[in-house]
Amino acid sequence: MRPFIFSADSHIREPNSLFVDGLPASLKRHAVRAVKDGDTMITRTEDKVIFKLRLNLNPDFGGQQRLGIHNLEGRMVDMEKDGIDAEIVFPSLGLWLYCVSDPEAELASCEIYNDWNSSYLSGHLDRFVRCAVLPVQNLLNTQAELKRVAAMGFTAAMLPSVTPTGIAKYNDPSWDPVFHLAGELGIVFVLHTGTGAETVIAERGPGAAVINYSLQMSDGISSVMYLVAGGVLDRNPKAKVAVIECGASWLPALAERMDEVYVAHDIFVRPKLSMMPSQIISRQVLASFQHDRACIFARGVTGTHSFMFASDYPHAEGTFPHTRSVLEHLFDGIDITEQEKLDILGGTAIRLFRLDNPAAAARLVAA
Ligand code: MN
Repeated sequence: MRPFIFSADSHIREPNSLFVDGLPASLKRHAVRAVKDGDTMITRTEDKVIFKLRLNLNPDFGGQQRLGIHNLEGRMVDMEKDGIDAEIVFPSLGLWLYCVSDPEAELASCEIYNDWNSSYLSGHLDRFVRCAVLPVQNLLNTQAELKRVAAMGFTAAMLPSVTPTGIAKYNDPSWDPVFHLAGELGIVFVLHTGTGAETVIAERGPGAAVINYSLQMSDGISSVMYLVAGGVLDRNPKAKVAVIECGASWLPALAERMDEVYVAHDIFVRPKLSMMPSQIISRQVLASFQHDRACIFARGVTGTHSFMFASDYPHAEGTFPHTRSVLEHLFDGIDITEQEKLDILGGTAIRLFRLDNPAAAARLVAA
């Protein structure tokens, strides 16, 4: 039987006017929007330019070669072509909601996105896991929206992978009520790379393209380090965090590094944790990867359950349209059981995000 393949990272493109149309007149100026200027697509909020994309260099972002960017039926055609059975779906414009600094506009934008996402995907919840976007300018708003989307049946919700300027960092106890609530509600926190950062372009000189994308790994490293060392995850053991598109091989390395210093600098360590950092990571942190096979070699440190395959459709750095051949060679040269393969390819993500697809079960168990 063919393994059930779940992508732990994919994106839809909301209508460009979703936030402009949805926000009330008093908040419209804050709307995150994409405006075409000649051959450039400019994403902005208020007077702030967030992101510029040259369309002629990025034909796929215009939708010509990826059928599913704006279109759910086309998406399912591409999934079939690529061998993806189901996926969790993240936003495109909504990735930039953490650039909205007005708390009221941020909350309203998140509500608009979450309502749209839920209705857009509602007919196909056996193939798509919905992911909410949570506001963070006011952590009471975070909790209110968390409760609202949990009542709508969401099982995953985004927090920024980089805490925006002025927001408590992830080692701050003010996050405790948020992580406690998510654990109680069974909502997994998704930290997608690049979110919350002022810019994803740190370098424009030689090597910039490789440097900028590779550097985005550090979002995940930093957030997990703060959440574990500061004790937020330790004090809220039911909370789970999925770090998306940062790669995954650093997770075992980080776990061992943190254990090392936790013991070696014992006299300076505050707060004390109830278990070793690596054990907290193993219990509560997962990471998605595309081509980053080193995590599979190193899986013994945290356990195989920490790693989830992802295609990052429809983005150029993802595996579409070559996912079938990527998967064919994913485990080459690695000593691994058939059950572990099925878990990495889909089982772990399906259990984590609680995909509503009973038919998948038979394809998640090795013969
Ligand atoms: Mn992605």
